[in-house]
Amino acid sequence: MPNLIGKTLGRYHILEQIGEGGMATVFKALDTRLERDVAIKIIRTELFGKAIIERILQRFEREAKALARLSHPNILKVLDYGEYKGSPYLVLEYLSGGTLKDKTGQPMPWEQALQLLTPIIQALAYAHEHKIIHRDIKPSNILLTDKGQPLLTDFGIAKILELDDGQTLTGTGVGIGTPEYMAPEQGIGKDVDARADIYAVGIVLYELLTGRKPYTADTPMAVVIKHINDPLPRPGKFVSDLPQSVEKLLIKLLAKKPQDRFSNMDELGLGIKAILANPDTFKLSVPLAEPERNLVTDRSYSPEADENAHTIDLFERSNPVVATESKRPRFQIKDVLPSWWPAVIGGLLLLIGGTIWLNSGIALQIFPTKALVFTSTPTATKTMTPSPSDTPQPTVTPSVTPYPSKIRDSLGVEMV
Ligand code: AMP
Repeated sequence: MPNLIGKTLGRYHILEQIGEGGMATVFKALDTRLERDVAIKIIRTELFGKAIIERILQRFEREAKALARLSHPNILKVLDYGEYKGSPYLVLEYLSGGTLKDKTGQPMPWEQALQLLTPIIQALAYAHEHKIIHRDIKPSNILLTDKGQPLLTDFGIAKILELDDGQTLTGTGVGIGTPEYMAPEQGIGKDVDARADIYAVGIVLYELLTGRKPYTADTPMAVVIKHINDPLPRPGKFVSDLPQSVEKLLIKLLAKKPQDRFSNMDELGLGIKAILANPDTFKLSVPLAEPERNLVTDRSYSPEADENAHTIDLFERSNPVVATESKRPRFQIKDVLPSWWPAVIGGLLLLIGGTIWLNSGIALQIFPTKALVFTSTPTATKTMTPSPSDTPQPTVTPSVTPYPSKIRDSLGVEMV
């Protein structure tokens, strides 16, 4: 992004850069007509090829208009939009109180965390009613007024950067959404609905309550795989006095399968209200320990049964949404063999061991006749061997099989 400080975009005079993310750069600017501060968010088109920029621009106007129509006290207002040298930008209200990210890193009292997120949940309920899914809820997208009131921002930016088939426009390693806050279905590139936002709210709540994110790793793909596979680390492990109802609320918000979460934000809002009123009377039928499940290898997980899921094939997609790395999870034999494989291998080993044992000296000494059953020529033979004088002499060979020499010696049998 070229240095825009001191430049004028339409009626907006750029004052300073206040942030830079993977997809956009944010500047503080002066609206010269209304003489007030605004924030200008410019999409970083230098990341994309020409054809992709054209698609972004086409989509941008439509999305910007939809965002400008959102009118809710807890959603940061989109004031205007424009284009500067091929880079689309949004003009937003400017808030001076920082972001919720400044409040993370250490556990927050649960009442305070639930109260802080309540306006955000109301904002999301409103947006979902208007068929807009946020897709990138995280503490840095929750801005604070100078009085500490939270407002949700960055609605639809992820959508602007998405192709019609749901795949990322970037192809540069810049993903849509933020892996640490992404629901499993979003991480594997599915269409998402309100329940992906519910999951992300759950991660933010977890982080506020415990001071840590539940799933972290070195690469975006590794984080996505943890969201899919790893059981939720019990929040109560990190905060001793967390009411069980709050812990259960988190477990429900962060269920791996969308249909196991709250079905909408209003339902979640009611749950939070009830817990704040009395944490001991609020009951949720959620098991405290979610069973470990692996949506990639779990054959009992049926994407067809989940109208929101489309595929669990994380690795065969030619263009996964989040990460462009081709890092696979470590190979595990259980991924390719059915669950009863140990029984089959055990049986085979028993059969081979049994055969060897029955053919060994011990078996022969204990069960001499039975052992013969397994030998190759168990017949008594009577053969005529010509004598040197041409007089046929009958020779009797013993009725035994060609035993190994050791056994032969011990039995005193001569083989023909
Ligand atoms: P983002 O790229 O949306 O994560 O924004 C980067 C940073 O810019 C945020 O963490 C905020 O500190 C700042 N920022 C974004 N939007 C605004 C705004 N409307 N008012 C004030 N600061 C903002």
